[in-house]
Amino acid sequence: MGYNRDDILHFVRELKIKFIRLQFADVLGISKNVAIPVQQLEKALDGELMFDGSSIEGFVRIEESDMYLRPDPNTFAIFPWNTHKGGAEARLICDIHNSDGTPFSGCPRNTLRRAIADAASMGYEMNAGPEAEFFMFLKDEHGRATTITHDRGSYFDLMPVDLGEAARRDMVLTLQEMGFEVEASHHEVAPGQHEIAFKYADALTTADNIATFKLVVRTIAMQHNLHATFMPKPVFGIAGSGMHTHQSLFKDGNNVFYDENNESMLSDTARYYIGGMIKHIKGFTAVTNPLVNSYKRLVPGYEAPVYIAWSERNRSPLIRIPARRGIGTRIELRNPDPSCNPYLALAVTLQAGLDGIRNKITPPEPVNQNIYDMSEAERQELGIETLPLTLGNALEELKKDELVRKALGEHIYNRFLDAKTIEWNTYRTQVHQWEVENYLTVF
Ligand code: GLN
Ligand code: MG
Ligand code: MG
Ligand code: MG
Repeated sequence: MGYNRDDILHFVRELKIKFIRLQFADVLGISKNVAIPVQQLEKALDGELMFDGSSIEGFVRIEESDMYLRPDPNTFAIFPWNTHKGGAEARLICDIHNSDGTPFSGCPRNTLRRAIADAASMGYEMNAGPEAEFFMFLKDEHGRATTITHDRGSYFDLMPVDLGEAARRDMVLTLQEMGFEVEASHHEVAPGQHEIAFKYADALTTADNIATFKLVVRTIAMQHNLHATFMPKPVFGIAGSGMHTHQSLFKDGNNVFYDENNESMLSDTARYYIGGMIKHIKGFTAVTNPLVNSYKRLVPGYEAPVYIAWSERNRSPLIRIPARRGIGTRIELRNPDPSCNPYLALAVTLQAGLDGIRNKITPPEPVNQNIYDMSEAERQELGIETLPLTLGNALEELKKDELVRKALGEHIYNRFLDAKTIEWNTYRTQVHQWEVENYLTVF
């Protein structure tokens, strides 16, 4: 896009914007914002707007809490749902800087910028496209979210069978108004489950888009009196929600994953990228699948990946190579779920792929049979391993992976590990309903 400071001031005047939301993400990927009246915008655009970072998850302690928000003019967008009383609202996504002006190492957007710069130093630009799935549930009489859906719809149903369809339509329209190029939207496999696919873009734009997408989906669902959730597995026994992430690298406008003379028309670069991905997959799963609940999705039977393998044919391996070649050649990483911090998830996957390219890591042979039909012995023979089974396992793997640690940077690595270790231990030591039901009367 390439907007600058003056463009923004011009838009704001033309569109009679009254409020600007300065948006940023915390370490766990939750979107935060500081709202400013439009009169403060110039100061903000000049990077002079201070805020207190001490109350933000994973940021800083009280004594070092003065930080600056630096809005990125390219992220200017109107919130089309807040137009009441003529006071239109816009937002700008920000990078966070320390009081001395240096980029703050706890800002996930800066972490992704670092990965993008590393790719650029090798001559590459990453393109990424997500497929974020979500559920819509009814609310109870007190307005609280339930896990009940009145939806009888199913995969690619044509008829608008439920409330969810109408809400989804509004989501698509709103996203379009905000400049998204929506490619398709459909009902997913489970009742109440939906997917809206929007066009790929460079990594930073895509991470920003994912953050915005979640906000739009939740806001519009609320307007329809429904609760939208990106929780990876809200209901036992039906499909969970993934965020398959398509990725490719470009150099001088060409897709370097494509090589018409190579086997399967995949370049060596693409293969090394896959090699790096597979080498670090266990190490970065805690980042792409960050909740206790994420691991309830990664089980057999629901089109979510379980085994560490790649394939050009199978539809449910960890890494799939869609059939498109030429400019659209790409890999689809299928383990991420939409509860992840999109900035960190793209940063670690990109750094893993770059590591593969730098060190010419050859991936294992692609597996084109159905892995779920194999016996454990057959899998062992082919050297097919399993993704971490729990958040606890994933955190152990994260601790062993120096590259992922470096990709996150010390600050985020430490805060992330601390927060997630507490989360895991809190869960692990609870007595769950399942235990009571299965043990109380038997023992
Ligand atoms: N819901 C599945 C997952 O958890 C994906 C289903 C699909 O898009 N084919 O990854
Ligand atoms: Mg899809
Ligand atoms: Mg899907
Ligand atoms: Mg997919």
